[in-house]
Amino acid sequence: MEHIKNAVKLILKGACKNLARMLFAKDRLTDMKIRREIMRGLQEPLLVDEEACIGCGVCKHVCPTGAITMVPLDKPVKLSENRIKTHVPHIDREKCVLCFYCHDSCLVLTAYHKPSAIHPRGIVISGNSARDFFGVKKSEGGEGNA
Ligand code: SF4
Ligand code: SF4
Repeated sequence: MEHIKNAVKLILKGACKNLARMLFAKDRLTDMKIRREIMRGLQEPLLVDEEACIGCGVCKHVCPTGAITMVPLDKPVKLSENRIKTHVPHIDREKCVLCFYCHDSCLVLTAYHKPSAIHPRGIVISGNSARDFFGVKKSEGGEGNA
């Protein structure tokens, strides 16, 4: 009996949460102005979360159409004693066939189990930082000073 009660509670809780999402845009991460501009074609969606990306280049290597190039950063970022982020990916949307290999292979997702740092349809900024994955604090000079 207890497990039925718990199941009903769970269902009701989920329904309330989803209703709040639909009616009041609860949990929405993307700014409404940006969403509207993307819908109207005024703004390109952001495809790479540069802060979360560790610059490994896996996405570029798995892309079957050569749509991804690694672009140098103005300021390389020190992620650990042995690792410096020097490049981040850029997707050429003209060449992209939306296979999602890049998204599914991203190390941020596969190794660190966080939202992928690349998405061919548009990323939701996770707030994660590549420095966190390597345990580097800002005070240790983890930003822009490789
Ligand atoms: S989704 Fe696009 S950019 Fe990503 S791997 Fe496929 S073709 Fe390349
Ligand atoms: S988006 Fe992901 S796979 Fe591509 S370089 Fe960044 S961390 Fe690596």
